[in-house]
Amino acid sequence: MLAAVIRAPKKLDITEVPTPSAGPGEVLLKVGSNTVCGTDLRILRGEKTAGVRPGVVLGHEIAGTIAEVGAGVNGYHVGDSAVVSPTVTCGNCYYCLRDLEQFCMFPDIFGYNLDGGLAEYCLIPAHVVARHHLVVAKPDVPATALSLSEPLSCVLNGAENYKVKLGDTAVIIGAGPIGILHMIVCRLAGATQIIVSDPSEGRRATAASLGADITVDPLNEDLEAVVRGATDGLGADVAVICIGRSELLPQAIGLTRKGGHVCAFAGFPKGTTASIDPNAIHYNQISIVGSSNAKRRHAEEALRLIEKGLVPADIIVSHTFPLEKAVDAIEFSASGEGIKVAVTP
Ligand SMILES: [Zn+2]
Ligand SMILES: [Zn+2]
Repeated sequence: MLAAVIRAPKKLDITEVPTPSAGPGEVLLKVGSNTVCGTDLRILRGEKTAGVRPGVVLGHEIAGTIAEVGAGVNGYHVGDSAVVSPTVTCGNCYYCLRDLEQFCMFPDIFGYNLDGGLAEYCLIPAHVVARHHLVVAKPDVPATALSLSEPLSCVLNGAENYKVKLGDTAVIIGAGPIGILHMIVCRLAGATQIIVSDPSEGRRATAASLGADITVDPLNEDLEAVVRGATDGLGADVAVICIGRSELLPQAIGLTRKGGHVCAFAGFPKGTTASIDPNAIHYNQISIVGSSNAKRRHAEEALRLIEKGLVPADIIVSHTFPLEKAVDAIEFSASGEGIKVAVTP
């Protein structure tokens, strides 16, 4: 089969490898779609090497159809649609035992040390099957939509931390794929006013078409003034940073109301710092929360939202590439054009 194998930084081979088959306890997934993520780009560029095994098949946003079910496997059937919850936790470390499994100290991760979804087939190892990290989907949902369940699961983890609720004003800083998913989740959670800031005109237009109440060009408009104007001067209930620029942290604090939440959802370049007004924390009781990865139950919740048609996947997945063009797909995803890129083997 064809697969995108990462040999070393900047060396992603699109090459023939032996097609795996499902041994006892294992399941073989025929990949229908693998959406491309910023992490894939960082692995390709060599900016992320920790935990990445040279020779691994890249890709962790995986959806497909079950092609083979190994001996002794229950609950999975050939022909079922399924998605992978790609961070497979140990279930027994400090964090797993404290309901913080997203920080599992001994995870196996598809596209890092387990062969991922940028291939025609993806073998789901027995321990992954046993821990239910392959989640069966309802039939007739396009694989490109299903593969969004991984980024959406991370967004659901974030939303749980920033506690968006009915009637809120939410500010989403950055309207790439993650910002758009936050916007949709905030709306589903009952936010009645959503303000989206992004320097790209195309991305603002997409946000507006998907229901943003106000879009802001941060290069030519004063975001804080717009937010205050839309909230009787109070500020937003929640602000979510979806662009990895550290100066956005004090800015987000500045446009959030007393008792509100700021979420540093994006990853920031290693070593960057931000200075904030400590009195915004003290007097205004603003909570700054982070978010990283997702729990398995978020994958399940994300899948249910997608199956219900509550996520406009056909607009979010703006471009598809064949597997032969996986390198182009990853590079294109960094261009800022379009929203989300899928590779469809
Ligand atoms: Zn991802
Ligand atoms: Zn663990």
